[in-house]
Amino acid sequence: MLAKTRDHPEILFPEIDINLYKPNNPVEVPVVENKIATREISPNIIRHISFDVTGTLLERNIRTGQSIGIIPEGFTEADGKPAKVRLYSVCSPERGEDGQGKIIATTVKRVIEEDVENRNLFLGLCSNYLSNLNPGDMVKMTGPSGKRFVLPENAGDFNYLFFATGTGIAPYRGMVLDLLEKGIDNPIALIFGSPYQTDLLYYDLFRELAEKHGHFHYLTSISREGRRPDGSKNYVQYQIKDSRDLLDPILKQKNTLIYVCGLKGMEPGLYQMLAQEGYGEYLRISEDIAGKPPREWDRDDLKKKVRPSGRLFLEVY
Ligand code: NAP
Repeated sequence: MLAKTRDHPEILFPEIDINLYKPNNPVEVPVVENKIATREISPNIIRHISFDVTGTLLERNIRTGQSIGIIPEGFTEADGKPAKVRLYSVCSPERGEDGQGKIIATTVKRVIEEDVENRNLFLGLCSNYLSNLNPGDMVKMTGPSGKRFVLPENAGDFNYLFFATGTGIAPYRGMVLDLLEKGIDNPIALIFGSPYQTDLLYYDLFRELAEKHGHFHYLTSISREGRRPDGSKNYVQYQIKDSRDLLDPILKQKNTLIYVCGLKGMEPGLYQMLAQEGYGEYLRISEDIAGKPPREWDRDDLKKKVRPSGRLFLEVY
């Protein structure tokens, strides 16, 4: 086999510990802080919640991109059984919030929905449990989980495009801080989608990082403050066209990796845009549709015949 050149480096995945604490043996840790993570107070309530994992197996042992599990103690599922574990991406860099890997944080959106037909209110069980916690409250935690949505061991060999919608930005807060603090000076672009300007998450942090580091680019796509000329919403994938001057030279490099995190719905639109704009190499496209222009791909094509290549990592729900 030919050795890969630096232009097309092999992606070395790190050895990672998972499930040090399982749902049947969770660890109990205190909440340290619970604060708003949006740019301004907004009806879209998203909080940055941190925990002290000092002295547990989680201390210094969480890779950026991994998740922790939370068991909402004292709550029951709809069937009356005790509430099960829910996963949340860790948003801290590897050094933690404190520089020593003792304090880790996650990004939680309060799920509050109304059934418009019958006006029933739905409150997300775990997101509201977490959002109501105060410093000092104890939480049952599991994890870490996730092995593949992490930075490569040889992180400095790559450029990065991070696409996020909403709380999908959580793993990138840690990843961007890790990359910049390690002095990696390859191009990194974070493309973040939120409904309104007020909902931009960790806005001051990313804006300051972009001002300080010329190779880190922070782009935002606001979906509900106007429409595109064709009437569609301004979603993250349009940055591939709109910010072509910046993104094309990065996308063309053989050592660029794309990470996608957030709403499941962003997957087909992003794939279609990548293929349409000439970046099909980030995808595995079935031979069945190889001759069909990406613009004409239907839902079925996108669901069954287009997959990420080894250079695109996906975590969507
Ligand atoms: P949100 O506020 O509902 O949406 C964020 C932005 O994405 C909005 O501007 C929204 O536009 C836009 N959007 C909606 N549909 C889209 C589409 N098809 N393509 C592109 N953009 C689209 O997001 P959220 O409520 O925070 O939800 C975040 C999701 O990320 C949750 O499902 C969560 O489970 C997931 N998540 C996953 C991980 C992980 O896998 N590790 C970590 C964290 C979060 P409009 O609403 O105006 O249409």
